[in-house]
Amino acid sequence: MRLRNIPGAREIIENSPLVIKEAEKTKGLWKELFGNDNPIHIEVGMGKGRFLMTMAEKNPDVNYIGIERYTSVLLRALQKMEEKPLPNLVFLCMDAAELEQVFETEEVEKIYLNFSDPWPKDRHARRRLPSREFLARYDKILAQGGRLEFKTDNRALFDFAVEELEPAGWKAEKITYDLHADAEMMKDNVMTEYEERFSSVGNPICKYVIYR
Ligand code: SAM
Repeated sequence: MRLRNIPGAREIIENSPLVIKEAEKTKGLWKELFGNDNPIHIEVGMGKGRFLMTMAEKNPDVNYIGIERYTSVLLRALQKMEEKPLPNLVFLCMDAAELEQVFETEEVEKIYLNFSDPWPKDRHARRRLPSREFLARYDKILAQGGRLEFKTDNRALFDFAVEELEPAGWKAEKITYDLHADAEMMKDNVMTEYEERFSSVGNPICKYVIYR
């Protein structure tokens, strides 16, 4: 993703009640933050937040947390949320490598990865969000029986992600190399910004649902 340095983004995020600051203090207390006992679902690398906003609107009985590392990108999500505030969606501005510092063991019921950055160089493989290093982090915070869903149009990244499952101790429950042609997996599909862009030029979308 090409990033522009948006003047004032950091200040707006610092002052927004929708972005949870000092999130380590909320570790183990996310349901209290939302004020209910609903399950917690997170998207790691959420970009401008369209997917989560649609999900939060459709599923008021689920609490959603969007995780995005860049203030300039998160700002776009905040601007959209101002138009339509949702009580069951908040954001974290952080590197997902630190997930275990903000979520207690098994605190999260579902994890979404959508169109994660490919990091094509081999030496950067551990930065890929579906890598075994990240799967080990998700393993800690995901509830027993919880699921992780990953979508991408990048076939090389998807093949890598599938190969990482066994060494990391995960299993595929569902897998498709052409999501939009798979009626069963398309049921309830919510398009992300990147999915819209890449499927509109004919790229097949790969998806897996995994568990351990
Ligand atoms: N999920 C959105 C979609 O499908 O439209 C955005 C996809 S965009 C290619 C990937 C996003 O993940 C970027 O905004 C990037 O900043 C974010 N990201 C990548 N690695 C991250 C990390 N380690 N922690 C938090 N965010 C990350």
